[in-house]
Amino acid sequence: MKDGLELLYKLQQFDDRQTETDIRISEIPKTIESLEKDRDSKADIVSKSKEKFEDNLKAREKFEKDILLLKEKISKYKEQLNKSTTNKEYQGFITEIKYEENKILEIEEKIIEEMLKSDEVMEEVRKSESEFMIISEDYNKRIKDLDQNLLYYKEKLTEEQNSKAELRKTVPDDLLKIYDKLIKNREGKAISFVETNFCGICNVKIRPQRLSELISTTNIFICENCGRILYKELKEEEQKEKV
Ligand SMILES: [Zn+2]
Repeated sequence: MKDGLELLYKLQQFDDRQTETDIRISEIPKTIESLEKDRDSKADIVSKSKEKFEDNLKAREKFEKDILLLKEKISKYKEQLNKSTTNKEYQGFITEIKYEENKILEIEEKIIEEMLKSDEVMEEVRKSESEFMIISEDYNKRIKDLDQNLLYYKEKLTEEQNSKAELRKTVPDDLLKIYDKLIKNREGKAISFVETNFCGICNVKIRPQRLSELISTTNIFICENCGRILYKELKEEEQKEKV
């Protein structure tokens, strides 16, 4: 029976490891997802500077259009000027034309300002792009490492499951039934490892009589408090005593 207990304890260790591996396998994708989210949010610096560049381009296009309209206006004034019959009319058109021409000069100055600004904005776009590249490379490297880690744990899980299946074949059926039932009903812990004289899981003290029986007999004992199978590893001297 003690042998069976040893096997159950081993089985519990396998199950514990598998639970840990399961947790890692479920946690890693969450970490990856949050890294991806973080990385993509950093792309804002690029899109914002690109937006600025677009705005600048649009402003310049609008000024060019304004100039075209003013030029059309001027040419119409010039046509009317040629047809003018009085000096007063003639002077009036001259004044209008000068007024519109001044407007064109003002707009042309603004275009130059925007062009100068566009160089700055262009530089900002380049900078933000290279900045983001460095940031995203760092993120991508971390994500790649995690992907590999995930693969490692998945392989590990398969190996663990295989070894566990092998081990289960060696455990007597009746013990396996009890074990599986406890695993199901006791939060994945069927075996309580007793280090001193307390239940290793619920920490309730084990009566001295029971403890000595636990050491000296091959019977299976259940913790009176949590209902798990108690397992005490025999020290060398105790092993010898037993013999
Ligand atoms: Zn207990």
